[in-house]
Formats: sequence, C-alpha cells, structure tokens
Amino acid sequence: MEQEHRGSMCYRERNGVGYLTFPAFDRVHFVRHAFSTRVGGVSPAPFNTMNLSRGRGDSDAHVNRNLHLLCDAVGVDYCSLVSSAQDHHTQIRRVGRRECGLGVRFPADRQSVDGLITDEPGVTLLTHYADCTPLFFLDRKKRAIGLAHAGWRGTAAQIGAITVQSMQKEFSSDPADILVGIGPSIGPCCFEVDRDVAEAFMALWTFEPNAFVKAGRPGKYQVDLWEANRRILLGAGILAQHITVGGLCSCCNHSWLWSHRATKGVRGGMAALMQLLPE
Ligand SMILES: [Zn+2]
Repeated sequence: MEQEHRGSMCYRERNGVGYLTFPAFDRVHFVRHAFSTRVGGVSPAPFNTMNLSRGRGDSDAHVNRNLHLLCDAVGVDYCSLVSSAQDHHTQIRRVGRRECGLGVRFPADRQSVDGLITDEPGVTLLTHYADCTPLFFLDRKKRAIGLAHAGWRGTAAQIGAITVQSMQKEFSSDPADILVGIGPSIGPCCFEVDRDVAEAFMALWTFEPNAFVKAGRPGKYQVDLWEANRRILLGAGILAQHITVGGLCSCCNHSWLWSHRATKGVRGGMAALMQLLPE
C-alpha cells in the first residue's frame, strides 16, 4: 500500500483507491475512518473518477460501485453504511445497527441530518462533501464516534459544538476525551465570500472572529472555516492538543479532491466514513 503525508493527514492508496486519514485516529485500534478523494472509482467525466454523490448527473450504479470500492479499500462492510441527509442545518442523529443501509441501500427516512453519532460497533457513518468541512469525532473512553458536515452555514450555526453536546447527552462523553479531525474543505486561501456570509461569522463574537474573517478584495472577505470550527470546538471543551486541522484545501487541490467552487458545481462528491470496529 502506498502511503504519504499530505497536510496533517495521511494519504493512502489501496487497490487504486486513494483516501486520507488522521494519524491521531489511526493510532486508536478500535476505529476505522477515511476521507475519500477523486482517486479510484469508475465514474466518467465530469465525475471522474471516484464520485460518491448521487443526484448530480452520474448514474446510481457508478456511485454504488464506487462506494463498494471505497469500503473494500478502507476495510468496512458496505451493508453497514448509514448515510446522512445533509441540508446545511444542525440536526445530529444517533444511529445504530437498526439504521444500517439508510440513505444507501434504502431511501433515507429523514430530511435533515447533518451529523451522525453512534456507540455501536459495526455501524459505519457516512457523510458527503465538496468544499464543506468534515468534522470527525472520537471519544476513546466511551468508545463513541461522530461525523458532522460543517459548511459555512453549519459552521456559523456551531454544528461542531452541537455534535459534542449530542455526544455528552447520548454517551455521557467528556469533551476532554474526544479527539477531533477537521478534514479537507475549501481553505482560507480560496473561501472568498460576500458581506452577508462574513457577517454570519463576525456574529460569533465570543470566538474572536478576527481570527477567521479577514477583509479581502474590495467588498469581499476571506473566511477560514478550519479556524472557526477549531475555536468553536475549543469553546465546547475539546482540548487544543486533541484537534487535528488537516490543512488541505479542496479548491487548491481540485485535481484530486472535489471542489464545488473550482468546478463551478459540475462535479462529483467525496465522503467521510467512520466505524467502531466489531469486537
Ligand atoms: Zn485554496
């Protein structure tokens, strides 16, 4: 297997399928996780070649084949996947074996799910991205995991903190035990926004927004979704040394990551997945 560092993440290739992991999570023996790339898969242009998003013009057969290939490369069972139903809100859903297949093998049964959490081994959480920020959560003590989809709306609505609170409520997690990975998304280099979006971030005044909203070209602003999420997570009790910022911009790296902005929306999608290994 090929393996190298990219940003603060580890890039691996198995059976021609390329994916990223967080070294801090790789060191925990009872969890498996990955963030997909464009590398591998069977989709034709403009979805070439690893597309994991349905409903963007690629065939469902290609997406399903790609999901199988990713699952095989990472070492999780396709049948164990439970998908989110993302719509840029902050609903977090606790799932278990009963939900396996939802949004993948069976239609989703809910409209708005931007975060998934579980403490059941053998259940694989699946969330979708193309510039939005993936947040990975791992409570090593309580053996619970979570994935959250933090686009600019979700980030500004503090989905990171809401996911931590959901884990506290559902699993009695102590935030001091939770590792967090902030995965590839549009970076501060490329996330140029108008005043209305900048204002949503400037309203996060308790987190010192000067650290993640900067004036850009005339009338424009640059937002750092990684730093905004990091500060919100610190505010929720996550320890600084437990947060890894992947540091990979999907827009700068659009040759091997999917970026909504770089492709002007003609694109495939990436996925985050995570599973507590069966005993
Ligand atoms: Zn960039």
